[in-house]
Amino acid sequence: MSQTLKAVRGTRDLLPPETALWNRIEATARAVFARYNFGEIRTPIFEDTSLFARGVGEETDIVSKEMYTWEDRARAQSEKAQSLTLRPENTAGVVRAYIEHKLGETGQLQKLYYIGPQFRRERPQKGRYRQFFQIGAEVIGPPSSGSESPLRDAEVLEMLATLLDELGITGWTLELNSVGSAADRARYNETLRAALAPVVGQMCEDCQRRAVTNPLRVLDCKVPEDQPIIEKLPVIADSLDQESKDHFAAVLTALDAGGVTYKRNPRLVRGLDYYTRTTFEFTHGGLGAQNALLGGGRYDGLSEAIGGPKAPGIGFAMGEDRLVLTLQALDQKAAPPQVDAYVAPLGETVNPAALALARELRRAGLRIELGDGSFRLKKSFEAADNVARRIVILGEDEVQSGILTVKDFSTGVQSKVPRAELVSFLKQ
Ligand code: ATP
Ligand code: MG
Repeated sequence: MSQTLKAVRGTRDLLPPETALWNRIEATARAVFARYNFGEIRTPIFEDTSLFARGVGEETDIVSKEMYTWEDRARAQSEKAQSLTLRPENTAGVVRAYIEHKLGETGQLQKLYYIGPQFRRERPQKGRYRQFFQIGAEVIGPPSSGSESPLRDAEVLEMLATLLDELGITGWTLELNSVGSAADRARYNETLRAALAPVVGQMCEDCQRRAVTNPLRVLDCKVPEDQPIIEKLPVIADSLDQESKDHFAAVLTALDAGGVTYKRNPRLVRGLDYYTRTTFEFTHGGLGAQNALLGGGRYDGLSEAIGGPKAPGIGFAMGEDRLVLTLQALDQKAAPPQVDAYVAPLGETVNPAALALARELRRAGLRIELGDGSFRLKKSFEAADNVARRIVILGEDEVQSGILTVKDFSTGVQSKVPRAELVSFLKQ
């Protein structure tokens, strides 16, 4: 097939009936967010490139090699050419909007969620695409709004546990760590640098680079041969100051009280530079190599890093594509939607009456497929049997008498139903 007739590598079409599963996931997420009093935010799909360079971090894989960036031509003398980027994640956009609309000046904690596509130029594989979808949320506000409280961290994690349970995703694992404050991390980076010096020569090329630029990210390495070395490196918990330790302990105490189970993972660090303190990931065995369902954490320094006021926050992003894969692995495929009835006109002259009947039934809330009067009766029955529970036959006689013939495919029973009773008959 020619290139132009295929979706671009790493992108794909979502088709029914699978889209029903996507819609169910999004509806469940919206309902859960509403119960926790979150409101929806929709930010643009592209932003100024420098937002991501500053907000995500120049040294991250996302910014250094995965972004779709282009130079947008100036349209007028007064306009300057601008470097734009398709959003690779949504936290930077949300925090930009928080700053732009001065949401901090309300003094209120902002609780915002989003659902939408993100773009990263990665090597496509199962659970990893170049256009993928995230469902995420952010809790952000001035310190006076309580945005730094460990209760916020625990509440977000408890909400995620509830959301996954309500989606029917069983068997998830919550892995949790604290990466401390910016000062803790600087201290830990020095400790790591020293510990890495004698061994880094035996590690992969990426790690050799990271050991110089950002030693913390060595812990992100997925190369199997490097793991025995990584396991012997000092852990960040030993570099945390008392305040960070207390904050983390308070998060764990609240989670214990809420009955949310977790596993501490001292090597869990997020790939993004703005994360502070609590950092977490929910994983699922059904996903194979791409086992992360979602990731998130606290980002107390992000707003200031992109030029805004102090606005501590915590958030997460779930991979919706991976939620779908997990539910499919758990065999909760979207059942093809059951059409209540197939309206089959007998002869093209009955088509207008069939449209009127279908309109009446649909307006009453029924799911109706409308056939065509040019079909022979046998063809109408076959088409109806493929999609619908019943067929409603509408010929000249039925139009005249107002009595319709309805056949139920599961029981084989054929009934004569007066038009006035058809809606309640089909709703049974
Ligand atoms: P990974 O280690 O899997 O690359 P990440 O650290 O890049 O994940 P985040 O940037 O934290 O992931 O994004 C949050 C979630 O978004 C991930 O846990 C994952 O479920 C999903 N995700 C990230 N990148 C992709 C992608 N290319 N395709 C599909 N889902 C993705
Ligand atoms: Mg990634």
